[in-house]
Amino acid sequence: MKTAITFSPSHEVHTQPGHVERPERLQAIQTLLNQDGILESLMQVKSHLATKEDVLLVHPESYYDSLVAASEAGTVWLDSDTYSTPGSLGVALEALGGLLQVTEAVVKEKASNGFAIVRPPGHHARPAEAMGFCLLANISIAARWIQKNTNLRRILIVDFDVHHGNGTQEIFYEDPDVLYISTHQSPLYPGTGALLETGAKEGNRSTINIPLPAKTGDDTLLYVFKEILKPRVAQFNPEFILVSAGYDAHWLDPIGGMNITVSGFASVLKEILDWATTYASERLVALLEGGYHAEALAHSVLTTLRLMNSRQATASDPFGPNPAQGSIHDQLKNYLVEIASIHAL
Ligand SMILES: [Zn+2]
Repeated sequence: MKTAITFSPSHEVHTQPGHVERPERLQAIQTLLNQDGILESLMQVKSHLATKEDVLLVHPESYYDSLVAASEAGTVWLDSDTYSTPGSLGVALEALGGLLQVTEAVVKEKASNGFAIVRPPGHHARPAEAMGFCLLANISIAARWIQKNTNLRRILIVDFDVHHGNGTQEIFYEDPDVLYISTHQSPLYPGTGALLETGAKEGNRSTINIPLPAKTGDDTLLYVFKEILKPRVAQFNPEFILVSAGYDAHWLDPIGGMNITVSGFASVLKEILDWATTYASERLVALLEGGYHAEALAHSVLTTLRLMNSRQATASDPFGPNPAQGSIHDQLKNYLVEIASIHAL
């Protein structure tokens, strides 16, 4: 079986001059994938619009209606950095629809895994509030869609975007069936995702936040995945893995500063793909979240697709490591011991 992918054909109408969440992000990805030739070995899924019913798996109807009203009003700022234009709701529904189509291909065993290469992103969207460039809580809706349409219950959401996915955390904070794991830079927008935010009520210990400092680097990020997160994932034993794949932790990214390389993302992805093999019968779907250096983003997405298609593949990393920043792993040792003690079994 192949890796399923989808693009959003109409994404270019969701745009605002000077905004970092812009069409050039996906254009750079598509250009590189075409140049590379990898598309021939992938299963391309046509996206179609998600339905209102899909949106209501997570959002209240009043919020859906407010997005319709915003799209009819012209260009509207839903928060200080989240825009909506007349075409934006359609683009957001197309992005969500593509993600659900790829997810369906994986649950029906037509594809081994999948990647929705779409925009706008989703992990900051709250149930009733757009936020942080995000209109719809895509990955959360996909998790609820899987639970509704299959007999799979235990969903792992892994979010390695440089920002904390506050929306995803909020939606599942009291839910024991969805384990939400976020590694993110701290301090940074949106300011949530502290180490001690670990879930509540029935969902106690079903949220794992790993706030990491600027300049963290590949070695520490991979240490966190292998030494701290892996035992918790084993204990949870997920039946499906969803990945909020944001690449704004790359060292060239203009709004993140975690000093990760394309090869670093590759190492983390290999670990997550191993979890999918061990626990989830390979079932894994990734969704594009952030990533604002277009070329670094494109090579990160190409590398992700190569690994999803063949675990032996190598990274496409023309940038290499940041020449101005070495490892700070030794400086973080005491902090990593603290994190490990909080998330120990
Ligand atoms: Zn981000």
